[in-house]
Amino acid sequence: MKLVILDRDGTINSDSDDFVKSPEEWLPLPGALEAIARLNHGGWHVVIASNQSGLGRGLFDVATLNAIHAKMHKMLAAMGGRIDAVFYCPHSPEESCVCRKPLPGLFEQIGLRFGAALKGVPACGDSVRDAIAGAAAGCEPHLVLSGKSSAYAAGGQPEGLPPGTRMHADLAAFAAFLLERATPAPAAAPLEPLLPVSPTPPLVPLPPSPSPA
Ligand SMILES: [Mg+2]
Ligand SMILES: [Zn+2]
Repeated sequence: MKLVILDRDGTINSDSDDFVKSPEEWLPLPGALEAIARLNHGGWHVVIASNQSGLGRGLFDVATLNAIHAKMHKMLAAMGGRIDAVFYCPHSPEESCVCRKPLPGLFEQIGLRFGAALKGVPACGDSVRDAIAGAAAGCEPHLVLSGKSSAYAAGGQPEGLPPGTRMHADLAAFAAFLLERATPAPAAAPLEPLLPVSPTPPLVPLPPSPSPA
């Protein structure tokens, strides 16, 4: 199974220091939904791993989070794409849970639920803690220079990235990278010889029909 794990805020939709608290505040980044649809068409199953401490902080409830995700799924479906599942950490930082990124708990939940080994699974987010969590779970870390890392779009890289983290301008560039890598350039194959034209078999004359008596 081709599985890819994405962060949500700052990766798929605009992040906000005030939290995304309602469907109205959930706005996709340019090209992000199309990128997910392209991944789907390339055979990738897309799953989200997202810190949603706004729940633990009492800024919104689960019903609202579900409504936000309903909007996301609907807008994505209109582009021909699909997100298989959204895994989120509902805790505030003070709750010291094991699922809040940079800890790998959400990723491990995804591995269990999908029955998938996480080794080498591409994981992409906009902050260092996404990359740390992904790498800790055995995933291949990718950083998009949108959201929290948009300051590095012009160059440089944030401190503390796990070794080997690949950087991409945005989710579209990340998707293009995966799709290009998944389809190795075709080797220069020799031209197929033209098929020999088989001779037309001679028509066999029908036996004469018996004459009516
Ligand atoms: Mg993010
Ligand atoms: Zn948690």
